[in-house]
Amino acid sequence: MKGKRFLSIPVFAVFLLLGFVYYVTVFVFLENWVGLQSSAGSLNALIFTFFASLCLLSFLACVLTDPGGVPSAYVPDVEGSEDSDQAPMKNGVQQRQCGKCSAYKPLRAHHCRSCRRCILRMDHHCMWINNCVGHRNYKAFVVLVFYATISSLYSAVVTICCTIEKDWNFTESGPTKIFYIICGVLTIGLFFTLGTLLGWHIFLITHNMTTIERYDAIRAAWLARKSGQSYRHPFDVGVCKNITLILGPNMLKWLCPTAVSHIKDGITFPTTRDNS
Ligand SMILES: [Zn+2]
Ligand SMILES: [Zn+2]
Repeated sequence: MKGKRFLSIPVFAVFLLLGFVYYVTVFVFLENWVGLQSSAGSLNALIFTFFASLCLLSFLACVLTDPGGVPSAYVPDVEGSEDSDQAPMKNGVQQRQCGKCSAYKPLRAHHCRSCRRCILRMDHHCMWINNCVGHRNYKAFVVLVFYATISSLYSAVVTICCTIEKDWNFTESGPTKIFYIICGVLTIGLFFTLGTLLGWHIFLITHNMTTIERYDAIRAAWLARKSGQSYRHPFDVGVCKNITLILGPNMLKWLCPTAVSHIKDGITFPTTRDNS
């Protein structure tokens, strides 16, 4: 079942891109720049292989980890919700029912049309992993974006250095120059795209928001301002706690995509009221 997620063109394209970037960085640019036989060349190849392997591991974790579905026995705690910060977002139990699944859905859960089910703490559906990014694989997704950003930066620097240092003489053929330009544009473009995505998710993590909640919060803040009030995201329990809730309490495991033992049920979450 999980293996079926690999049967997708975007997932295949990611494998192809990762393989291509790895091959040209190590066997074309590093080889041409310092030579793989030199100590600088082999050390750089080792470091880049390390980051590329972590990229691949995080990618596999994202694809294979179930983002988290709503338990079939789930029934909302109606009495508790009246005295909770979660109540304003809830707008009554009626609205937390999924019309498509014909079942209750917890706070922060949303129905995904692609997955055809409700996903706990849904962030978004990502076609590149052919899976939803939700409660159980969000950490793996963020860690993947982190390693992919580092790897593309590394690749871009090696490509640029090799291009600058190369002895471009008149005998160098046109296709070689075009190949160097394409690889440079590709790695620099990848770095800026992934870096922007990483910055966005660092912002979301520090505010304990999902992508869906961020867009809801913009609207809620605008409505609150109109009525002279201020809006605060109910799950934003402070930067440090927000980070540990997602990446885990042990800093040494923050960048391990499979270290997710700290993740709770995905149905109840600490709120600002719990802190006061
Ligand atoms: Zn649903
Ligand atoms: Zn989905």
